[in-house]
Order: sequence, then C-alpha cells, then structure tokens
Amino acid sequence: MSNTADVLIIGGGVHGASLAFHLAQRGVKSIVLEKSFVAAAATGRSSGLVRMHYDTEASSRLAWLSFQYFRNWQEMVGGECGFTRTGFLQIAGTDLEEALKVNTAMQQALGIATLLVTADDVKRLAPSFATDDFTLAAYEPESGYAMPADTANALMTAARERGARLVQGCEVTAIHVAGGRVTGVGTDQGDFSAPVVVNAAGPWANRINAMAGVEEVPLTTWRHDTMFVVRPPEIGPSHPTVIDYANDMYFRPEGNLTLVGLEDGNPLGDSPDSGTEHALPGFVERAIDRICRRIPAMEKGHLQSAHGGYDGISPDQNPVLGAAGPEGFYLDCGHSGTGFKTAPAIGLCMAELIVDGAARSVDISCYAPTRFAEGRLIKGNYDNIWR
Ligand SMILES: Cc1cc2nc3c(=O)[nH]c(=O)nc-3n(C[C@H](O)[C@H](O)[C@H](O)COP(=O)(O)OP(=O)(O)OC[C@H]3O[C@@H](n4cnc5c(N)ncnc54)[C@H](O)[C@@H]3O)c2cc1C
Repeated sequence: MSNTADVLIIGGGVHGASLAFHLAQRGVKSIVLEKSFVAAAATGRSSGLVRMHYDTEASSRLAWLSFQYFRNWQEMVGGECGFTRTGFLQIAGTDLEEALKVNTAMQQALGIATLLVTADDVKRLAPSFATDDFTLAAYEPESGYAMPADTANALMTAARERGARLVQGCEVTAIHVAGGRVTGVGTDQGDFSAPVVVNAAGPWANRINAMAGVEEVPLTTWRHDTMFVVRPPEIGPSHPTVIDYANDMYFRPEGNLTLVGLEDGNPLGDSPDSGTEHALPGFVERAIDRICRRIPAMEKGHLQSAHGGYDGISPDQNPVLGAAGPEGFYLDCGHSGTGFKTAPAIGLCMAELIVDGAARSVDISCYAPTRFAEGRLIKGNYDNIWR
C-alpha cells in the first residue's frame, strides 16, 4: 500500500476524521495516522453536547452548519452519529443575563432556532429543576447530544469509502521539511510523504507543532472529568440538555442516566498521557453537590461511573485553524473543550482552506494561528467558559 498521499492527517479523532471525509469529497487523497485508534482520546471521552449557543458569531456559525450534519447524518455522511434531540437550555446566572440576551439575538439573526425563556418556562419544560436562582435562559428546542465515537467512526468510514486511508497504531515521531516546506512525516511504521501535513493531534498538538518548529502557538492541555449518575424515577424519563453557568456545570440525559461535567476546576498543563480511567479526587463530590442543587430529587440517585479526559486548549479557549510554520503545515487543534459539535463544519472549512486557499462555508480567519503573536485574541460575550 502506498505511503504517499495529497494530505497526511495526524490524529484520528473527530477532527482528523471530519477533515479526511471532506477532503475525500473533494477527490483529495489523505492518510490519517493515528497512534492508537479512532476516537481514542478527547473524542471518545466527549460529552457530545450539540448546541448552537456560543458567545461569538463565528463559533455559532460553525455549530449551526455542523448541526445540519447531525440532524441529516444519514444523507450527508452515512452510518450513525447517535444524535438525540432533547432540547437545550443555557442557564446564565443573573450577572450574565445581558450577555445571554445579546448571544441569543445574534443566534436568531443567523436563523438558529433559539429563544429566551423565563424561569417559569423552564419549570414547565423540566418540572424537577430548581428555578429560583435565575430569571432567564436561552432555549434551543432542536438541540441535544450525539455519540462522539460513533460520529468519528462514521466520518472515517465515509472517508475511507471515498479513498482515504487510515493507519492505526502508528505514532508520528517527526515532521520532514525540505526547502521550507513539509514533505512528509516519520512514524514508528516508517515514512509517509505528502506536500500537506495537518496537526489534528488534540491534546498532543503541542508536541506535533514542536516537531515542525512551530513555537508561536501557545497551546496547552485541559483536563476534564465527567460522571454518570442513575436518575431516580421521580425525575422522569428524560430532561433537557443543559449548560448551567449559575452552577458552573453542564448535564444531559442518556437513557436513565445523567452525565454531569463542571466548568470549573479543570486543570491545565498536565501530560495528556496521564491516566483518565478515574476522575480526580473530589470531583464526584463537587459534581453531585452541583447537580443536586439544580435537580434536588437527584439526591435519591446514585453514581454509575466517573472518568477523565484531555483536550488541547488555547489561551482564548477557541480553536486554532490554519497554516503555520513550514509551507504545507496546517493546524486543526486547540479545540478547547468544545470542539465535538463543530467538527463537521470545521472539517469542511479546513478542506476548503487546504484545497482552495480560503474557507468559504464559514469565515475561519479569526482562528488563525497567527492571532497569538499578533495579540488578536478572540473575546466572547461570556469571557472565559472554563474557569
Ligand atoms: C471529557 C470531555 C468532554 C467534552 N465534552 C464536549 C461536549 O459536550 N461538546 C463538545 O462540542 N465538545 C466537547 N469536548 C471537546 C471535544 O471532545 C474535543 O474538542 C474534540 O473531541 C477534539 O477532537 P480532536 O480530533 O481534535 O482530538 P482527539 O479526539 O484527542 O484526537 C486526537 C488524536 O490524535 C492522536 N495522536 C496524538 N499524537 C499523535 C501522534 N504523534 N501520532 C499519531 N496520532 C497521534 C491521538 O491518539 C488522538 O486519537 C469534550 C472534551 C472532553 C475531554
């Protein structure tokens, strides 16, 4: 089998898979090099929330375009992404209400189905929720969650059906550069060559950048623990998917389980090779306390499981997309804990950037790797999401 392609993609997470799929749709042959297996890292640990409520227009546009894939998966990709519509609520504490209104109006102007609702409306949507600590929320009736590993595998399968190659258990150890441009990579399975190499290595992206001599992109790692709790019957068969800034938490249903993650206390800078089988000490206690504040009847539930995960994160908590370093080297990384739901659109835009020289489906120029050196950091209306 040939080790030569048009594009080498380092990383078989949802972003590497989405890029391979969209390149294949354009007739561009890629090889995805994955040191473990598809969705082994951030993607496999992802909570899978699918919503359009972001605090910048570019991110909402990417999420909105991606949403067209999630709700039309069979026609647009094939296979299963496991999208489940639950409705989505963005609860903001009273200090963020003005930003909530601005963001919701921005999303409505993009055509996104979202509206402001009162705490009484939320009580009608989710009678088990305590609603006495906020007055307004944004509601997206069509949103919900999807299954990240299924999503990545469906994208990879569709890419391979169109000519992409996947090499698993293959660790990239060097980026080859000659005359100022990339020529390929070295791996523990030999050399691969292509005029374009894309870093989609998730929490390991920094290491890949260093191999290419790219030092001006200040990426680090973000650790995030989640837990599943078994809901007691009095809460009912389901509930909406929720981001709850008043409690620095998000949660969503899955069968009779509720998945919970926290917006605060997510350590930065740990090795992405650290263990993720168990949540960090104290996480479960904090998460149970928070979910019981929002859903008091959860006190009668019980813990099912808890574990951790790592993503790459940038200083402004936004992705890093575009060319950097030697000619032909691209970054599709730094997805900062929110990159699952935007992966379909980002793969499309990155394919346009690589093939046509510019993304046209959504303008992704604000995510350029040069923004850090140029001091053009992205600032959303909520400021930092992760604290
Ligand atoms: C616990 C958790 C919950 C999350 N919840 C959500 C959510 O609800 N909604 C949302 O939108 N986002 C969420 N995110 C963020 C989202 O999951 C990530 O942004 C996204 O999955 C990143 O995908 P990726 O393809 O960039 O990275 P990854 O999935 O990490 O893939 C990178 C791949 O690169 C491979 N790799 C690394 N180095 C090398 C090398 N040298 N050679 C070969 N291969 C290599 C790795 O093995 C890995 O498989 C969450 C993240 C975490 C950790």
